[in-house]
Amino acid sequence: MIDFNSKKYKIFFILNLIYHYESISRTQLGDITEYRAATISDLVKELLDKDLIKEKGSSNAGRGRNQILLELNNDYLCAIGISIEPNEIMYIVSTIKGDILKTEKQNIPKNSTPSYVVELIISEITKLMDLYREKRILGIGIGDPGLVYKKGDYTVFSSQFKSWENIHLKSIVKDAIKLPVRIESNDNLKALGEKKYGLAKGISDFICLQLGEGIGISIVANNQLVKGAIGAAGELGHTIVTPNDKICICGSYGCIEASASLSAIIAELKRAVSLGSNTIIREFCKNPEDISLEDIKKALDLKDKLCLNVVLQAANLIGIALANAINILNPELVIFEGLMIELGDCFLNTIIQKVNENALAITNKHLSFKITELKDNAASLGAVTLIFEDFLKTDYFYKLCDKSSNETISCEDDIDF
Ligand SMILES: [Zn+2]
Repeated sequence: MIDFNSKKYKIFFILNLIYHYESISRTQLGDITEYRAATISDLVKELLDKDLIKEKGSSNAGRGRNQILLELNNDYLCAIGISIEPNEIMYIVSTIKGDILKTEKQNIPKNSTPSYVVELIISEITKLMDLYREKRILGIGIGDPGLVYKKGDYTVFSSQFKSWENIHLKSIVKDAIKLPVRIESNDNLKALGEKKYGLAKGISDFICLQLGEGIGISIVANNQLVKGAIGAAGELGHTIVTPNDKICICGSYGCIEASASLSAIIAELKRAVSLGSNTIIREFCKNPEDISLEDIKKALDLKDKLCLNVVLQAANLIGIALANAINILNPELVIFEGLMIELGDCFLNTIIQKVNENALAITNKHLSFKITELKDNAASLGAVTLIFEDFLKTDYFYKLCDKSSNETISCEDDIDF
């Protein structure tokens, strides 16, 4: 039960208003909250003393005297965002307004065990925390390569990272670092990153289409991330457009991921080259086993027929599956993410064309397509968003910043929502 008259609630309310309005005066806070001027003054002083907010410039809001404005202390409040991919780990240190202070990339050696990867992560977090010890690191947000169980605790499954199953990453990192930790699948984090800092700012219904080794969508509907009953919503790659006997990594047959993902395209080209198909790829890639995305891009630039056919077939499948998703979800924006964007306009335009042909005309009329501008940082920015939202939505900031309290943050203090 919330006690609306408690100091804790009032300070939480004031902090959220400062965040919401970006900059606001004490008088305006009084007008909104109807707290007495002396109460506002005390609460603001406490937030200033804790370095959570700071004063900036002044504005004349039509009340005669210039008013000093208050804003969150962007120089002090930070979080660490991490995105674990099958081959590398991305780290950012970001301020509460999304200014990235540092980015780091760490390669994951082939055949690394999950426990080795977890050790790498903990040691890098420790280094970053030491480097930014003058800042207030509010927590660690982690993007997991697999599906994250809905309660946000452990990975259920990753089709792209074989040994990454039932990893209790959140509790392991929390025990080691003693700070709040939030975990979510990379794909979902990319959508959060786009919503907060990217192309989906102010958009209530959109889809991020992940085009890479795996294919999936992350869904925001009515401003909320859609995760499904166990966190497995958006597995577009495991839907079937044309039933066939191609076995998918999930064990089913005919999933579009088995025919249209980047690894499926490369596998198809390897097969065709080994069988002697006519293609320019042979000229710059002697061993079919070494065919890479770069080779495919070069071949597409040179209008290689085999490559074009394979890539456009994949685009057709993805476009039809996406049209089905659009008919169900009615988003106003699709954001393309992932390595396959590099296949270029012919690939992406074919996906769009298939959507136009197959989705309802009325939904197409209100739909646009864009390529992400956040690039490698989309998931890490989504990861810090989780921490900042916790900081603003819950009261644990009060304990965290209460220098007179010896209370430490325990697992139970994390709020799952
Ligand atoms: Zn599948």
